[in-house]
Amino acid sequence: MHPFTYIKPSSTREALGAGRRGGRYVAGGTTLVDLMRETVERPDKLVDINDLPLREITVTPRGGLRIGALVTMAAAAAHPKVRTMFPVISEALELSASAQLRNMATIGGNIMQRTRCTYFRDVTAACNKRDPGTGCGAREGFNRTHAILGTSADCVATHPSDVAVAFAALEARVHLLGADGSRTLAFSDFLLRPGSTPHREQALRRGELITGVEVPALPRPLVSGYLKVRDRQSYEFALTSAAVALHVKGGIVREARVAAGGVGTVPWKLSAVERALVGERPSDRLWAKAAGSAADGARPLRHNKFKVELLRRTIERQLRTVGGDA
Ligand code: SF4
Repeated sequence: MHPFTYIKPSSTREALGAGRRGGRYVAGGTTLVDLMRETVERPDKLVDINDLPLREITVTPRGGLRIGALVTMAAAAAHPKVRTMFPVISEALELSASAQLRNMATIGGNIMQRTRCTYFRDVTAACNKRDPGTGCGAREGFNRTHAILGTSADCVATHPSDVAVAFAALEARVHLLGADGSRTLAFSDFLLRPGSTPHREQALRRGELITGVEVPALPRPLVSGYLKVRDRQSYEFALTSAAVALHVKGGIVREARVAAGGVGTVPWKLSAVERALVGERPSDRLWAKAAGSAADGARPLRHNKFKVELLRRTIERQLRTVGGDA
C-alpha cells in the first residue's frame, strides 16, 4: 500500500483546511480503503471526518428531508422519517451491500463511491478513469454489467450506488461546504457523465466537503419504492433498478418521479417516462406504455444488449407495484 499520513480533525474548519491542502476525506472507508489496498487509489493524506457534526436527519421547514453526510446507510434506512416519508430511500439502502457494510458506510461516501468496473480495479488493465489516457479495457472486453446510457468513447462504467438512484428520482440536492462557503447542487449536476474526462466523477471543487443530501417535499399522499434486479439476491450490484415515486389524487397521476440504476454512467432520470404518466389514470396499460420509452437513447455494448429490454420491464414492473398502492 502507498504510504500516507492520517489526521482526524475535531472541527469542520480544520477538516476543510486539510482538504484544501490535498487531503482525501474518509468516513466509513468501505470503498476508499479497499481501493487503497489494491493500489487503485494512492492518496498521500487521509482526513478522517468522523468527528464532524454531520449525523442528523431532520425534516426541513418546507416538509422535505435532510440527511447528514455522516449518517450511516443502516441508520438512514431505519430512520422513522425516512421510512414513512420516502420508503424508496430505505428500500434502496437495504438492498445495497451487506449489513456489515451498511453499518459503516455513510450517505456521503455512498454517493461518492467509485465504479465496480473490474478493469478499473485491476491496475494492470487499461482504464481511462483510473489512469487517464490509457484506454478502456471494458469497451472491447467483457462488458455485460456496463452502462447502456450516458456512455462515451472513453468510459462505459455504471455508477454503482442504489440510494443515488432514489436521490436522482426525487430530485435531491447535495449540500457542500468549502473554503469559500456553502452551496448546493442538484443531484443531476453533482454526478458527472464520463465524456472525455471519466476520472472526474463529481462536480466538487478542491477541498469541498459534502455536508448532507436534501430531498425536497412532494405532495402527499406519496407512494414510492425501489426495485433491484441482480444476478443473485444479496450483496450484489444492480443489472437494472427502478426508483419510483407517485402522487395520485382523484384517480389521476399528478406527480411522478422515476429513475433507473445499473444502466447509466450516472443514475438515470427517466423524464420521458414521468411525462407519460402525469395526467393519466393508473392502469396496467399506462405502466406498460410509459415504460416503453425507458431505454430511449440506449447504446448497448457487445455483452449487455439484454439490458435494453430488462430496463423496460424493470420500470414497468415497479410502476405497477408502486402504482398499485396509490
Ligand atoms: Fe475504466 Fe471506464 Fe473503461 Fe471501466 S469502463 S475500464 S472504468 S474507462
